[in-house]
Amino acid sequence: MNAVANIPAPIAMLAELTYRCPLSCPYCSNPVEMAKKDSELDTEVWADVFTQAAAMGVLQLHLSGGEPASRRDLVALVRAAREAGLYTNLITSAIGLTQRRLAELDAAGLDHIQLSLQGTDADMADRIGGYKGGFDRKMQAAEWIVEAGFPLTLNAVVHRQNLHQLPQAIEMAVTMKARRMEVAIVQFHGWAMLNRDALMPTREQAEEASRIVAEARVRLKGVLVIDYVPADYHSEYPKRCMGGWGTTGLNVTPDGTVLPCHAAQSIPSLEFDNVRDKSLSDIWYQGDAFNAYRGEDWMQEPCKSCDRRKLDFGGCRCQAMAIAGDAAATDPVCVKSPVHAKMAKLAADFSQDDSAELVYRKSP
Ligand code: SF4
Ligand code: SF4
Repeated sequence: MNAVANIPAPIAMLAELTYRCPLSCPYCSNPVEMAKKDSELDTEVWADVFTQAAAMGVLQLHLSGGEPASRRDLVALVRAAREAGLYTNLITSAIGLTQRRLAELDAAGLDHIQLSLQGTDADMADRIGGYKGGFDRKMQAAEWIVEAGFPLTLNAVVHRQNLHQLPQAIEMAVTMKARRMEVAIVQFHGWAMLNRDALMPTREQAEEASRIVAEARVRLKGVLVIDYVPADYHSEYPKRCMGGWGTTGLNVTPDGTVLPCHAAQSIPSLEFDNVRDKSLSDIWYQGDAFNAYRGEDWMQEPCKSCDRRKLDFGGCRCQAMAIAGDAAATDPVCVKSPVHAKMAKLAADFSQDDSAELVYRKSP
């Protein structure tokens, strides 16, 4: 029985094991100011967090980063998660995964791998990832992943510079025998926020991407499932961000800070708890940051009286903060937002900026 009867238990947890990563993607969702390596939780504390999460009702654990393979204890962490009874999903660029390490991860009980794709050829992928030779290493690792028998999802973040490769990316997913593919048009948080001018797709590109995905979903029925995150700057209604704030999932950062979503630290009024100080259960049910935007009491007009409010919960709080300057405002993606026109103009202006240079993510 939980302490607060009307708050659902979380289903999924994202464990950002480290911010270290050999790549430097300019759309990385990690914060621009990152915690240092020496503040990372150790194996024992992570194992305890996994046990607490399972006891609360979490079923799925997403092991992410940064690059989770940069953690030397990754195999031990997977083993601990499985011993806690969690379904384990590794979200990786595959740099740092050897055939031997994959066999060890398999033996430790890793259930699933999500492989990120920066581009469909070495020129594009190495330029976007900021890592020469990364594409070839990724392709080799993809073969090993399939050979080892892991169910594979291919994650393609697409933006103005690589959207023309979307059809090839979908074909790559089929060739790699991925079961699922996530096509996400870049979301502007973290480093991507610094790169809106270089990455913003044009409206035509955004519409073409939706058409390509719709066609591929029909053509590849029974072969590949495609999840799709459309370009919200070019949309009319927001997405149901995080499935609803504090309803479904939680994120734990490398230093143990617990967040309702990966970009929540961009809301300056929120204070976040840490697993070193409080139990995960206390943080989920009683933490101020989790309760700040639960339910509907915090909503302002037009969300407060809108008949879509149970569908999208007013959209993304971090985007409301970034564009409207108020985290409790209607997500500016929504046509009913007073600043929707400002967002549409930002999208149009950024998407036409051909002189913009990429700002690469820096490691901590
Ligand atoms: S988005 Fe790129 S830089 Fe960021 S963690 Fe993933 S692979 Fe590394
Ligand atoms: S007004 Fe608010 S609840 Fe209504 S559609 Fe827009 S964001 Fe969603």
